[in-house]
Amino acid sequence: MKSKMISTRGGDVASIDEAILLGLARDGGLFVPETFPSYSIDDFFDLNNPADFAQKLIAPFFSNSSLIIDKAFCNDVFSFPLTLKYLDNKSYILELFHGPTLSFKDFGARFFAQCLQKLMRGKKTKVIVATSGDTGSAVASALFGRERISGVVLFPKGKISQRQEAQITCWGGNIHAMAVNGTFDQCQQLVKKAFVKGLTEDDVLTTANSINIARLLPQILFYAYSSIQLTKHHDELINYIVPCGNLGNVTACYWAKKLGFPIGKILSANNENSVLSEYLKTGIYQPKSSINTLANAMDVGDPSNLERLRYLFPSFVEFKKNMDVVSVHDNEIRDAILSCYKTHDYLICPHTATAYHRLEGVDKNQPWVITSTAHPAKFEEIIEPLLKIKIPIPEQLSKLLCQTPKVKELDIDFNVFEAILNSI
Ligand SMILES: *Cc1c(COP(=O)(O)O)cnc(C)c1O
Repeated sequence: MKSKMISTRGGDVASIDEAILLGLARDGGLFVPETFPSYSIDDFFDLNNPADFAQKLIAPFFSNSSLIIDKAFCNDVFSFPLTLKYLDNKSYILELFHGPTLSFKDFGARFFAQCLQKLMRGKKTKVIVATSGDTGSAVASALFGRERISGVVLFPKGKISQRQEAQITCWGGNIHAMAVNGTFDQCQQLVKKAFVKGLTEDDVLTTANSINIARLLPQILFYAYSSIQLTKHHDELINYIVPCGNLGNVTACYWAKKLGFPIGKILSANNENSVLSEYLKTGIYQPKSSINTLANAMDVGDPSNLERLRYLFPSFVEFKKNMDVVSVHDNEIRDAILSCYKTHDYLICPHTATAYHRLEGVDKNQPWVITSTAHPAKFEEIIEPLLKIKIPIPEQLSKLLCQTPKVKELDIDFNVFEAILNSI
């Protein structure tokens, strides 16, 4: 079978290689697989190492690619643990934060970077991202030191956590960190404008946010792998609760279910940015500007991957039947962090806390998995005063924190930004 990517808006078809380089489809839609591979699920039961599992899972999506997703490729990308922790009853936490920048974004960012380097074959490439949280650091870390590829990361000055900022500005070399005097939305506008204008011909300009299919495919691993591990211990389907922002992670969960992995219910947890739950109530989609919450990486008012979910469930009736969304407020996030610590002696970040909040309302006789999206040590400013403890700093983070920041300040001025881009 030759796999192809098609646009959610129906006006573009591309090979996977083209789709990765384009990011957004040429009709403005998002790329999704035209057909999903069919597997024999039994073949996955003996693959206990996530890298081996990923290879078997992801390679069929690349059947007409110049990229070869082999063992070496997957060992390079998935070189850190993906861990299931037992909580109580039949509940588990899926820890996705053991990568170099301590969030699940490391999986997709590293997979994307490895694909890009091979696809570019030495052509000069610039990757620009605007970030409001963890994408910037994951992409910077994944691109750092790669030949002829530069990473340009824009973040809103003073609006991300100190440790998130340190993880973006510590690199130097081929990574250009820019502290923008403005909001996240204004950062994103600068990036979009650069794409509209284009650059000189021999430069390739691309973006690494979660509209890119290469960021999304590796995330299917989280759900495929963990559901297979847990069905070795449970006879029932495995249910998931996923903290959501741009909806990439939960889309990967629905795709894993569609591929035939033993997944039951999928619940989404949002913070106070509640466009999705309002859409489910009213059937009218009304994007909003985002509001700041404790779970800052989920502060999204117009989630881009909604388009992929609506493509998966085309009628509103079907969408409503499959989606289950609750909006969790900051005080409930604090309560969840506190309650999880008191009950289980286990630390969760504010994003994971939205999912933990939902766990309190489910039938505990069934197996449940909470997706834990980031390490609590990234959000010590919130957690430490709340629990009156000191969170031990993981080695990856302490290494990055002791570097001198290398960062340029940037006003919202496209001409200045363009001049900087051209000088890189
Ligand atoms: C990005 C992010 C999310 C949201 O994930 P989406 O795929 O955008 O829905 C949740 N938690 C953390 C820590 C993140 O970095």
